[in-house]
Amino acid sequence: MKRAVLALALALAGALATPARAYVRSQDANTSVCLFWTSRDIHWRLSEPIDDLPFADVEAAVKQSFQTWHDATTPSGAHCSDMSFTYDGATTRTDTGYDPNATNNINLVVFRTKNCDDPGVVPTGDPCEKDVFDHPFACANKYDCWSHDPSAVALTTTDYNVNTGVIVDADVEVNDTGAYHFTTYSLPGCDPDQAGSCGRTCNSNTDTDCIGWDVQNTVTHEIGHVLGLGHEQALCFQQDPTQDATMCPTATNGDTDKRTLAPDDVAGLCAIYPKGAPPTTCTPSGHITITSAPAGGCSSSGPAGLLALVLALAVVTLRRERRT
Ligand SMILES: [Zn+2]
Repeated sequence: MKRAVLALALALAGALATPARAYVRSQDANTSVCLFWTSRDIHWRLSEPIDDLPFADVEAAVKQSFQTWHDATTPSGAHCSDMSFTYDGATTRTDTGYDPNATNNINLVVFRTKNCDDPGVVPTGDPCEKDVFDHPFACANKYDCWSHDPSAVALTTTDYNVNTGVIVDADVEVNDTGAYHFTTYSLPGCDPDQAGSCGRTCNSNTDTDCIGWDVQNTVTHEIGHVLGLGHEQALCFQQDPTQDATMCPTATNGDTDKRTLAPDDVAGLCAIYPKGAPPTTCTPSGHITITSAPAGGCSSSGPAGLLALVLALAVVTLRRERRT
């Protein structure tokens, strides 16, 4: 079993547009198998409490993120995939990853509100510190803390069979440690693809009644990774950014347009999970293979913020295989 980690990281504005390509499927860096679920009903849970946001508001936003993928239609209105999602309710569990010996694995969305590296979060000398290779998230799971790049905004971990590509578990962690001002604010009747339509952009991390790092925007993108999609390399950095695909590797403070799917996102969903037909096992030629190491041009650095920064989504595939 192998684990892929897809992180939402921070990069400076002005990243160059990449060559035109359509949706991208996540693939194992070594075997090149494409990742997919065999089930058409993915169950998920949301970890509670969330310290700094009303749980009900976050729950509603995350539910809507899943609903968006469920409701996906082509430009002609065709409901081309029968992928569905079931919310199994809130949970106090905060552990990510897949235990092949367990019967209680869950697909989790969890907001990490502490950094594992902060003083006092992980006691000095805790064995989990020495176990980063076999169990890279041992401290994170033990102490419910963020163990990834501090500049990453969110991160999806997928466990899958390296020979078949079948996904057995996927978990979304959100970096709610204070670097990003997550919000769920929306004006009634907003159009996420119309900049400013859902509310003004927050000016600071204490600003209220505004849109900061939008939870629904962020999680809708991460669910694309849960489904086995990688980063879109085209239809990004367009003149009209509201037309960018949800799976584009960038977002901004105040961004809501990733709440809705672009036709290319829907094409990716329906290519993997065509309605009434088995999942497709690999990508059409021409789609790039996601490789290990941070995605090119997306060096992560700096504090979050309210500067003119954009988000990039770095892709990291851990090389270590988890022997089952
Ligand atoms: Zn991503």
